[in-house]
Amino acid sequence: AKEYGRGLHQFFRAEMNERSLERVQLLNHLRRAMPQRELSLHLQPQVRLSDRTVLGAEALLRWNSAALGPVGPDRFIPLAEETGLIEPIGDWVLAQCCELLQDWQAQGHSRLRLAANLSGRQFRNAELVLRLARELERCGVPGSALEVEVTESVLLEREGRTREMLFALKDLGVSLAIDDFGTGYSSLSYLRRFPVDVLKVDRSFIHDLGQGADHDALVRAIAGMAHALKLTVVAEGVETAEQAAFLTALGCEVGQGWLFGRPVAPAEFKQRYLTPAGG
Ligand code: C2E
Ligand code: CA
Ligand code: CA
Ligand code: CA
Repeated sequence: AKEYGRGLHQFFRAEMNERSLERVQLLNHLRRAMPQRELSLHLQPQVRLSDRTVLGAEALLRWNSAALGPVGPDRFIPLAEETGLIEPIGDWVLAQCCELLQDWQAQGHSRLRLAANLSGRQFRNAELVLRLARELERCGVPGSALEVEVTESVLLEREGRTREMLFALKDLGVSLAIDDFGTGYSSLSYLRRFPVDVLKVDRSFIHDLGQGADHDALVRAIAGMAHALKLTVVAEGVETAEQAAFLTALGCEVGQGWLFGRPVAPAEFKQRYLTPAGG
């Protein structure tokens, strides 16, 4: 038994070393990703469900590492959050979004909106709002063209400070979306304490639509509550025409998902979704 235990211990040690080695390597490459211009944004359309007009897009980070090939955001974003690298990366994302909006505006698409994901860690940086304000000004873009997405858990970490910063963003005209709505454990009272504009219903709920009355009732209840609070509902992960029909019937305003379009590079987004002149 003793020997078995030692073997097991060694096995776990080897396993752990391998994992932390992998982590260190990933981190080394990630530190160089920005200066080496390996990061980019892909854009996924958000459409008005009633007529499928493209209202804008969510910006999703991509890392194409020269050394490792493409690395998914679910792998590198948690690491960037733990190490604080998400702060400069997040600033870059916001600056990039302002430039994209500037480009769209120059082509007459001044109504389109871009949504950017914000990590909790970015709210530790008191400069966040000021930097964004400068970036918007530099690009001549109104804050109202930008939306920020945060999860419920981000709101409740260091609540006072986060709340102040979100109100400052609101003063710039930036709107606030609650990402992955319905997957947190918190009570809903934060909806009154924060300047929330949009609920993005998590794709797990959308996936189950049409699979039974209970699932539909849940989404219907979320939509009912959102509307009572004058919030816009965005359904994420819409993959089928049936889901879109359900959501439209429930009064959801906006859809995002493979049915309407996958995330694509900005040039392709323009080509596909933005008809020249006006639109
Ligand atoms: P998220 O904010 O919930 O983003 C939506 C994810 O769902 C994206 O995955 C998107 O590609 C995927 N998706 C979109 N439509 C469909 C669909 O119809 N079906 C399915 N099955 N999936 C769909 P992605 O791009 O891999 O991003 C994963 C997560 O990484 C995001 O989840 C977000 O939490 C994080 N992330 C991405 N970009 C950024 C960023 O710039 N900053 C921060 N802090 N986090 C980011
Ligand atoms: Ca998001
Ligand atoms: Ca989401
Ligand atoms: Ca998510």
